[in-house]
Amino acid sequence: MPDAFVVGSGPNGLAAAIVLARAGLSVRVLEAADSVGGGARSAELTLPGFVHDVCSAIHPLGVASPFLRTLPLAEHGLEWVESPAALAHPFDDGTAVLIARSPVAAAPTLGDDETRWRLLFATLVRDADALLEDALAPAHIPAHPLALARFGARAALPATALARLAFRGDRARGVFAGLAAHSMLRLERPPSGAFGLVLGLLGHAVGWPFPRGGSQRLSDALASYLRSLGGEIETGRRVESLAELGDTRPVLLDVTPRGLLELAGDRLPPRYRQRLQRYRYGPGVFKLDWALDGPIPWRAEDCTRAATVHLGATLGEIAASDRASVGGEIAERPYVLLAQQSLFDPTRAPAERHTAWAYCHVPNGSSVDMTERIELQVERFAPGFRERILARSALGPAELERHNPNYVGGDINGGAAILSQLFTRPVAQLSPYTTPLSGVFLCSASTPPGGGVHGMCGYHAAQAALRFLR
Ligand SMILES: Cc1cc2nc3c(=O)[nH]c(=O)nc-3n(C[C@H](O)[C@H](O)[C@H](O)COP(=O)(O)OP(=O)(O)OC[C@H]3O[C@@H](n4cnc5c(N)ncnc54)[C@H](O)[C@@H]3O)c2cc1C
Repeated sequence: MPDAFVVGSGPNGLAAAIVLARAGLSVRVLEAADSVGGGARSAELTLPGFVHDVCSAIHPLGVASPFLRTLPLAEHGLEWVESPAALAHPFDDGTAVLIARSPVAAAPTLGDDETRWRLLFATLVRDADALLEDALAPAHIPAHPLALARFGARAALPATALARLAFRGDRARGVFAGLAAHSMLRLERPPSGAFGLVLGLLGHAVGWPFPRGGSQRLSDALASYLRSLGGEIETGRRVESLAELGDTRPVLLDVTPRGLLELAGDRLPPRYRQRLQRYRYGPGVFKLDWALDGPIPWRAEDCTRAATVHLGATLGEIAASDRASVGGEIAERPYVLLAQQSLFDPTRAPAERHTAWAYCHVPNGSSVDMTERIELQVERFAPGFRERILARSALGPAELERHNPNYVGGDINGGAAILSQLFTRPVAQLSPYTTPLSGVFLCSASTPPGGGVHGMCGYHAAQAALRFLR
């Protein structure tokens, strides 16, 4: 038997296993799927030769992660690709705002809000490393209180209030709403503003890159590094019960509270079980991948300079879209997040062909087909888009959950990022990673700092496991 088990090989499971292996433990990762990576996998979802990211595509948190960036992943095959701009945000008048590496680069496309945008982001970009260290962690005494206080003064506001306070024009407000909508929260509620600030800051400080060849390459690099440390990975092995792991401790679980309830069942004290049952999942997503016979014909030429494009134009429209998905309704004009990796990474499609990836937010567990609504949004900013479609793949909440049981009802973040679940998920206690079962830890996105491919939940959970062993 190994010294430690990790159940699940998502970015957090692999990060946790790497920390334990580096500490000298023999570690075995057990993964239900046939391939490693959880939410960071790629596959030919449409036609042969077209490589699509099944879940995550764009990885600003991957390059900025205080843990992942210390790993020698380039030596294990990972190459980051960065488009000239991180993000494009088109409008109905045929123009677009670009977010690029420095706030100064974005500002000229913002008209009257040029100086305001610079003022808002310049200090945050300067404080980036300090802020990320404190933000990508569980609740703690901040290591950089001044930087955090400067950030917190604005981040405490809901996105709608912050956008209206910080900017005068619709363009800057719309771009900020698109950033904040990654939170999958009502934009009238905190901490949606904080998400907008962090994503904007990442765009300006490190860009929004993606792995050449697909997100799978990031997972493969993590797995390869883990194996070089002596770690083992067993795929196609779904763990049904903790009993299967015998007395080996520590055990780290890259699963949601629902997964923990299934694995540990009656072993958990009733009060902790009830708290897990009360844990709140967020809205789901509906995702499309396309094989295209050419690049997307954007009306705004600038959109061809960014791997990520946000479709929703105004603060009002994007806020309405997220209000609907949180409130259990379908948005007729959904806010759409789109990635066009093949423009900058020719390995994604055959010559002259392209791929595109997009999703919108829907109510948790929704079974409504959003294909038409998403494609109409793309067509609105890129007339003629649909004529370029050779094939499409559609994954609603149920299919995503079948692909990965951690996507409960299609929630891609392992739980809603509401204030009460931000730094204390899944339950409020001194170490959110520990469970009442001795030596059993949670390490998934259902622990702080939550969703995204950054491995920080795994890193912090593994630190808790190492403390348990001392
Ligand atoms: C459509 C979509 C788009 C996204 N876009 C982005 C993006 O662009 N950028 C970004 O940073 N993030 C994105 N995300 C979110 C990101 O993928 C997740 O937040 C991240 O993968 C969470 O990592 P994790 O390790 O906690 O869990 P996961 O990646 O979900 O991995 C959990 C793993 O555990 C395995 N598992 C679960 N239960 C068991 C069991 N009982 N036995 C064995 N194995 C088990 C699962 O099979 C899975 O492989 C996206 C997600 C989706 C679905």
